[in-house]
Amino acid sequence: MSDVEAVVVGSGPNGLAAAVTLARAGLSVRVLERNATLGGGARTSELTLPGFHHDVCSAVHPMALASGFFRRFRLQDRIDLRLPEISYAHPLDGGRAGIAYRDIDRTAEALGRDGDAWKRLMGPLAAHADEVAQFTGSPILQVPRHPITVTRFGLRALEQGLPTWNARFREDVAPAMLSGVAAHSIRTMPSLSTAAAALSLGAYAHARGWPVPVGGSQAIIDALADDLRAHGGELVTDVEVADIAELGDPRVMLFDTSPRALLRIAGERFPDGYARRLARFRYGNAAAKVDFALSGPVPWTSPELRRAGTLHIGGTRAEIAAAEAEVAAGRHSPTPYVLAAQPSILDEGRAPAGAHVLWTYTHVPRDSSIDQTEIITRQIERFAPGFRDLVLASSSKTAQDMEDDNPNYVLGDIAAGEASMRQLVARPVLSFDPWRTPARGVYLASSSTPPGPGVHGLAGWYAARSALRHEFGITSMPALAP
Ligand SMILES: Cc1cc2nc3c(=O)[nH]c(=O)nc-3n(C[C@H](O)[C@H](O)[C@H](O)COP(=O)(O)OP(=O)(O)OC[C@H]3O[C@@H](n4cnc5c(N)ncnc54)[C@H](O)[C@@H]3O)c2cc1C
Repeated sequence: MSDVEAVVVGSGPNGLAAAVTLARAGLSVRVLERNATLGGGARTSELTLPGFHHDVCSAVHPMALASGFFRRFRLQDRIDLRLPEISYAHPLDGGRAGIAYRDIDRTAEALGRDGDAWKRLMGPLAAHADEVAQFTGSPILQVPRHPITVTRFGLRALEQGLPTWNARFREDVAPAMLSGVAAHSIRTMPSLSTAAAALSLGAYAHARGWPVPVGGSQAIIDALADDLRAHGGELVTDVEVADIAELGDPRVMLFDTSPRALLRIAGERFPDGYARRLARFRYGNAAAKVDFALSGPVPWTSPELRRAGTLHIGGTRAEIAAAEAEVAAGRHSPTPYVLAAQPSILDEGRAPAGAHVLWTYTHVPRDSSIDQTEIITRQIERFAPGFRDLVLASSSKTAQDMEDDNPNYVLGDIAAGEASMRQLVARPVLSFDPWRTPARGVYLASSSTPPGPGVHGLAGWYAARSALRHEFGITSMPALAP
C-alpha cells in the first residue's frame, strides 16, 4: 500500500505543474527527485564563482508567459519577471545587428527596406499571440479554437519552412533574425518545425516579451514547490526511481521522465505494442553549455546589443543553416550557432556589483563529449572583440554531461525528444490523450509529451488533468491562483 494517492517522479517544471494540479484537486501527493535540488531544467546555481548565479538549463521564459497553466497559476503575481525592451538580438559582421524590440514598429523601422515585410509576417501573429499560444500549446489532435489565426500561422510556417523562406525579404538581416529563433529547435532548416518555432517565439517577442526571472529560473520552481507544500504536497530529493515497484501502489504515478526511462521503470506493465512505440521514440541533436562569470558587460560591437536579453550568434541565415546541417550530420561545426542570454543586465543580483553572468549553449552531435568553451568564446569574440579578457571563470557541460545531470536529456537532447513535425504530433505516441499510458494509473508528464520542450508546465498540467478525469472521475479542474 502507498501512503499517498499520487506520486510524481521528477521535479522539473512539468512534474511540479502536475503535482500542484493534483494537490489542488485535494489529493495527497509526493514528488521524488533524483537530484539533490528541485527543478530539472529550471535550476539556478553558483556554477562558477561565489556570488555568480547561473541558470543551469533554461534562462529565458517566453513560454512561461504564454502558458495557459502559468497564467492560471498567476506566475507573474508570484515572482518578478523582468522584460527586456529588446527580446532578442542577432549580431552580424561589420557591427550590424538585427534587433527584435518588443515594439514591432521600432523593429520594422530598424529593418529598413525589409521593415514592412517583417510587419506583414509577424504583425498578425503578434497581435493574436494568445491565440498562437493556445494553438501551439495544445495537443495537435484538437480542433483549433481560433481557425483564422491557425490558418495565418500555417501559411507563414509553409513559407518559412520551405526553400521559399527568403522570398519576402531583400536584405540579410531579417532572414538571419528568423533563423536565429528557428534554430531553437536544434534541427536542419528550413523545415516546418523550425518555422513553427520561429513564428511562435517570434510572435511572443513582440507581444508579451521574453522575460528573465529575478533570482533565476529557480524562482519559477520555488513558486511551484511553495504552492505544492502549501497544499499538503511532499517533496523528496536524492531518490532515483529505477523500478515502478519501488513506488508501492498509489492510485496514480506521473513520470516527468523520458519515454526511454519510463520503459525501463514501468515497461513490464505495458503491452508489447506500446512498449515498442516508446522504444522507437527518437532523440534529437544535442546541446553543450558554457556559463561565464564576467568582470563587466559583454563588449558587443553594436552597443544596442548590451540591452538584449537573448542573443542568437552565428551570422547569416546561410551560416546558421549550414552549422545546423553539420550537427545533424553528426559533425561539430567549426562556427556553430550559439544561444546566449544576459540575465544580469536585468537582474543585478545575479552577479557582484559591476560583474555579469553570461549564459550560452551551442548545438553539437548527439552524445558529444567535446568541451565547447573555446569555440563559443571564439564565436562571441567575432561580434564582441575583447570578450575573452573579461572572463573570470567558466563552467562547461558537454552533451554527455547534460544526460548525466538529467537523464531526460538523452544523449544531450535538451528537447527530450526530437522536435520533428512527426514527433510533435506523435509525442511519444499518436493519441488524443498521449499522457495516459495503457498501464493503469501510469502517466507520462514530461516534455516528451505535447506541447514539447520549454518551461510552460503544460505537459504536466495536461497529464494531471487526464489522471484526475480517468482515475478519480474529477472533471472540473482545480483553481490554481494564489
Ligand atoms: C541547457 C538548456 C537550456 C534551456 N533553455 C530554455 C529556455 O531558455 N527557455 C525554456 O523555456 N526552456 C529551455 N530549456 C528547456 C526546458 O528546460 C525543458 O524543456 C523543461 O525543463 C522540461 O521540463 P520537464 O519537467 O519536462 O523536465 P525536466 O525539467 O528535464 O525535469 C525532469 C526531472 O526529472 C528528474 N528525473 C528524471 N528521471 C528520474 C528518476 N528516474 N527518478 C527521479 N527523478 C528523475 C530529473 O532529475 C529532473 O529533475 C532548456 C533546457 C536546457 C537543458
